[in-house]
Amino acid sequence: LHDQFESEHHLEAKTADGKSIDLLLNAGLDLGSELNSARYCDGVGLYRTESWFMQKGTFPSQHEQEVWYRQVLSSYHPAPVTMRTLDIGGDKALDYFDIDEENPFLGWRGIRVSLDHPELFLDQLKAMIKANTGLGNLRIMLPMISDIGEVDDASALMERAYYELQQDAPDQFSYIDKPLVGVMIEVPSSMYLLKELAAKVDFCSVGSNDLTQYLLAVDRANSRVAGLFDPYHPAVLRALNSIAQQCQNANFPFSLCGELAGEPEGAVLLIAMGFDSLSMNFSSLHKVKWVIRRVGLAACEVLLHQCLAASSAKKVHRLVREFMLENH
Ligand code: PEP
Ligand code: MG
Repeated sequence: LHDQFESEHHLEAKTADGKSIDLLLNAGLDLGSELNSARYCDGVGLYRTESWFMQKGTFPSQHEQEVWYRQVLSSYHPAPVTMRTLDIGGDKALDYFDIDEENPFLGWRGIRVSLDHPELFLDQLKAMIKANTGLGNLRIMLPMISDIGEVDDASALMERAYYELQQDAPDQFSYIDKPLVGVMIEVPSSMYLLKELAAKVDFCSVGSNDLTQYLLAVDRANSRVAGLFDPYHPAVLRALNSIAQQCQNANFPFSLCGELAGEPEGAVLLIAMGFDSLSMNFSSLHKVKWVIRRVGLAACEVLLHQCLAASSAKKVHRLVREFMLENH
């Protein structure tokens, strides 16, 4: 079956009735194979920089980061690469940076750590900006945004990074190709701040893994409640649909990079909501493309309508299962 999926890798991800979808890669976990996967995707929608930090024994220097980021950016060039700034805390620990908390998923995570350690954040930003010199395909994304103040503080540090680079090497950085900046929508509060976020940054990407965890109050890493972690819960689907509508109304470019995008059933629902950019693991790319090429947007919209009206995740699962059987 995999060969069958793969046989269409060179074809466009377009629904049977002509809607084109950008299929992007979630990268940063499997370092070897990813650098060769450029031809299979339209770019990288989520580069998890912390994965590389997790393999180190200490914080990589700014120069070491620059060399690494440049390798990643040039592998996909000219396609865009969305690099997420360090997203540690929660389930992601660095051996050399101790975070010991009772409720790590509600604690010191993502942008919170970066803003409390501007020296680390500035190093990372400068390394990314330097790596982007002459390439221009970098986009920067901020994780775990829950408040507009965090965006303002991060933007101020970004301006400081530009300023300091220019001060340190005026010849080299007389002109800086400033990357687009975006935020992750993965904390429920950010769903209610989309208009303000649209005015401050260039794009957003929904982190459906964390958004599901926080909407349903289910620890995504706790096997005891794994059965309750369900992005097909009608409340989660309604939230995602609302995000898509709000972003469309605000003219705010949006995408989704949680695991849901890599599941054919999830992709079908997301496309119907209006997501035309989905980011997923390498192993999902062919499968999702294969399904997209065989469904019609109109049929997906009918399915979405039914799922949004469903009263339980169980009913949603039945609806999507039936849809998949009928359409393949
Ligand atoms: C998410 O939360 O959906 C996401 C894409 O980020 P991560 O899984 O790295 O937290
Ligand atoms: Mg997340």
